[in-house]
Amino acid sequence: MKISRISVYQVDLPLKKPYWLSGGRLKFEQLDSTMVSIETDAGITGWGEGCPWGVTYLPGFGRGIRAGLDELGPQLIGLDPRVPAQINLMMDVALPGHPYIKAPVDIACWDILGQVAGLPLCDLLGGRHGGPVPIASSVSTGTPEEMLRLVENFRGQGYRVHSAKIGGSDPDLDVARIRHLNTHQKPGEIIFFDLNRSWLPADAIMVMNQVRDLGVIFEQPCETFDENLKVWRATSHPISLDEGIKEMNDLVRANAEGAAEIVNIKVSRVGGLTKARQMRDFCLSTGIKCLIMDTGGGAMSDTMVAHLAQSTPEASRIAAWDCASMVSVVSAHGAAAIDGHITAPDVPGLGSTPVMDVLGDPVAVYP
Ligand code: MG
Repeated sequence: MKISRISVYQVDLPLKKPYWLSGGRLKFEQLDSTMVSIETDAGITGWGEGCPWGVTYLPGFGRGIRAGLDELGPQLIGLDPRVPAQINLMMDVALPGHPYIKAPVDIACWDILGQVAGLPLCDLLGGRHGGPVPIASSVSTGTPEEMLRLVENFRGQGYRVHSAKIGGSDPDLDVARIRHLNTHQKPGEIIFFDLNRSWLPADAIMVMNQVRDLGVIFEQPCETFDENLKVWRATSHPISLDEGIKEMNDLVRANAEGAAEIVNIKVSRVGGLTKARQMRDFCLSTGIKCLIMDTGGGAMSDTMVAHLAQSTPEASRIAAWDCASMVSVVSAHGAAAIDGHITAPDVPGLGSTPVMDVLGDPVAVYP
């Protein structure tokens, strides 16, 4: 089987509400999604989506995906999409780095492999584990009262895991946010406090030690690995690393230094399902718990996340994420949030279909 054509589509995904990360330092109003179809000479078509969270969150942006695909697209024609590992090797030779550009291609190849095998992706990625996967809500930063209202709203929709964005210039306000949400936490809920790397170690240690009695989870307190390691050594809180885990080597080092109990694997950030699965499997081997997410997108991205999360044993997965419920455009159908949980589809391949009226005409076609 050979790749015969690659078509690239661009879709704007306006957020239903403006969203602020950690302390309000970054505001987001619209996402720029790229959806990729890979056609084969066997008549099977696979789909993948790549959607950075704006342009300021990570080193990646929507137009960057399409520029990178302009380099890679012609070179992928004629290759066998049923072997995603080899497709990844080729892409890493043809365009070193830029993992987020390669993610939608890798995901579309997995979709084809699943269709050929007659199996849903979760079966290929590790087998279907347990029932519906909890989704972590994404709680925009605000006053303690505003943030609790957001948590309560998500709670009413069935969410039991919450990612509360804190950080900024006022450590006392962060302590107040943490204590307020913790006081109103319900049995069985998990609330983790996500800094999106906004603290310096001194801020992190000061705030975290003030809420030492609560034992709550903090995610990516600081920018660099060494800063986070310094924080981890000075506090007793479990720490999750997110933005700092860009590739397998970061994860290997985090494990070797004991720098994290949890990692947040964002599939597009690390280059797609092939690499995210390797990292997830490393976590299973080393006892690190996982959050499985993506950087943004519609139902196609959420469906992909649902497969990797569903194929992760329940004891090791904390939550997945859905972005489609945060945007006002329906770009695809697939796995959707139901009562704060998501379930990988039980059809061969990815199990997500694009809404072609929304995608419009392709912005690029290879060859
Ligand atoms: Mg995070």
